Amino acid sequence: MLELDSVAAGYPGNQVLHDVTLSVGAGEVVALLGPNGAGKTTLLRAAARALVLRDGRLRLDGRDVTRSSPQAVARAGICYVPEGRGIFPALTVRDNLLLFGRGLKGNDAVDRAVEVFPFITHRLANRAGDLSGGERQMLALARAWLTRPKVVLLDEVSMGLAPLIVDDVYAFVRRIAAEGIALLIVEQYVNRIREFADRVHLLRGGRISFSGTADELGSDEEILGHYLGAT
Ligand code: ATP
Repeated sequence: MLELDSVAAGYPGNQVLHDVTLSVGAGEVVALLGPNGAGKTTLLRAAARALVLRDGRLRLDGRDVTRSSPQAVARAGICYVPEGRGIFPALTVRDNLLLFGRGLKGNDAVDRAVEVFPFITHRLANRAGDLSGGERQMLALARAWLTRPKVVLLDEVSMGLAPLIVDDVYAFVRRIAAEGIALLIVEQYVNRIREFADRVHLLRGGRISFSGTADELGSDEEILGHYLGAT
């Protein structure tokens, strides 16, 4: 589904990613772990073509989209949900949904969002910026789903959320994975990764230093060692 092949990317004067190769298949949940500054957000942005790739290839369903515009990549089915959630705080919840659900008829966007997160019914007239952190995250997930993506890229999916909300978020992740959507998620909670991820990549210094199943990750101490750079 989504393939990054020997990708190099970064910012002017700062090449962050070096030779990153990974893939996410339909219905698969792949987690990205790594210390602050390792390049996790940069990797998601490269996969969404929000950054120009300096080297390497990006493919969706075998089709080379390395040089496609971010808009074309989004239309082709890659949906990026940034850490700031990527919603419009000044607009109402309803307008956020209608905006992202362009192409859906009438109230279909709202109905589809309410189907996955029922609380949205009671918040339609609220400004998105007035929602709680958890509600904002769910709105961001609902709007991602509206675009009928093939691949969803989620940054810091559970950061700052209460455990019960994180449960809802992961119930959603499980649901859309079961529908065949490919998910690449940046997650800081190793236990959630063990529970949900089919495969894990550890990023350090912009390079992948471990790839394997969640079980192969080893003990928390070993992972911590990776984080601290001790292994
Ligand atoms: P965190 O967990 O702190 O978000 P991360 O693994 O997501 O970390 P990135 O945000 O991808 O890491 O950052 C990787 C490197 O790129 C860091 O050195 C950071 O300072 C740098 N960087 C990030 N965004 C920019 C930018 N817009 N311009 C220049 N450098 C940037």
